[in-house]
Amino acid sequence: MHTIQMVDTRRQYLKIKEAVDAAIHTVIDSSVFIGGKAVGAFAENLAAYNGSRHVIPCANGTDALQIAMMALDLQPGDEVITPSFTYIATVEVVALLRLTPVFVEVDPKTFCIDPAVIEKAITRKTKAIIPVHLYGQAANMGEIMQLAQAHQLHVIEDNAQAIGCDYSFPDGRLQKTGSIGTIGCTSFYPSKNLGCFGDGGAIFTNDDALAAKLKMIANHGQSRQYYHDIVGCNSRLDAIQAAVLNEKLKHLDTYNYTRQKVADYYDRAFAPVSGLITPYRAPHSSHVFHQYTLILEKGSRDELKQHLNAHAVPAMIYYPVPAHKQKMFETFHNNAYSLPVTDWLSERVISIPIHTELDDEQLAYITDQIIAFFN
Ligand SMILES: *Cc1c(COP(=O)(O)O)cnc(C)c1O
Repeated sequence: MHTIQMVDTRRQYLKIKEAVDAAIHTVIDSSVFIGGKAVGAFAENLAAYNGSRHVIPCANGTDALQIAMMALDLQPGDEVITPSFTYIATVEVVALLRLTPVFVEVDPKTFCIDPAVIEKAITRKTKAIIPVHLYGQAANMGEIMQLAQAHQLHVIEDNAQAIGCDYSFPDGRLQKTGSIGTIGCTSFYPSKNLGCFGDGGAIFTNDDALAAKLKMIANHGQSRQYYHDIVGCNSRLDAIQAAVLNEKLKHLDTYNYTRQKVADYYDRAFAPVSGLITPYRAPHSSHVFHQYTLILEKGSRDELKQHLNAHAVPAMIYYPVPAHKQKMFETFHNNAYSLPVTDWLSERVISIPIHTELDDEQLAYITDQIIAFFN
């Protein structure tokens, strides 16, 4: 049996090695390493795929979020509503820009921000909401967009874990996550559903003026060469990464479908196990299973993790410490928050391997080990 990994980027690469190697060599031959054809082509292809008018490639997903907030002219002290149950990057950039993160609960079934609690958190200072499509499933964007319109708030989607996910509006209309809010952000970190061979990220918007501004900010606030109109940063997607991504984008739907099949297998295997909650599939969203995250209703999560690791099955806790319990946010009086759902999830979730290269032998082995723990 192949060694089981959380993500098997190597075997995924080997399947498309010829095409990816050729694409990389085309860039090296041209020796245009920054910008150029590969980056332009990828931005166009990704925009078409995602149904977004504009894609602005950048250096990583964290930068994408930062540039998004810079482009919206948020001022120090403005409040940004975010889930506490997320990867730190979502919330860190809020604080970095001297904005005030306002942490709210997630829905315990979807792991995503709960529209009902957003409304209660809105104040005169609120300027934006950041829904995170955690683990590959869309937040309730219909209600979030309605709230945002009613209160004139910006919506920045953190789509780092859900590229390719379809959100279905109450009227049946489908839209890709990342194309719904004011701005969408994603990451091409190697383990993401669409991962490159290093760091990469992208920003999505349907607004022409905002697109121009995002592009300027990612390039030192430059309007034309050596003329800098606003303070920006330097955040670029390398040409080699764009070439890799252009090849991999062709396979994204297959990659996501393969992840869904793994999730189906796990769901069936774990259905009879009491005390283990399998991921909920929200009717408003497809699920691209960036993670397959179980909730251990009873029993010791540490013991389960140790049992799995002892049997060569990796498992991870995403995330053990929610944002409102992180030391870095002490100045935002994060200790005053009471987020029992978030705390409960942080203590109970466990993610098991899910990726495009898991075979039946590995899946049978993983599920056997987990079921054995409960028997
Ligand atoms: C990965 C990730 C990011 C950050 O992406 P980087 O490319 O690593 O900077 C942001 N938010 C979420 C939810 C992520 O999973």
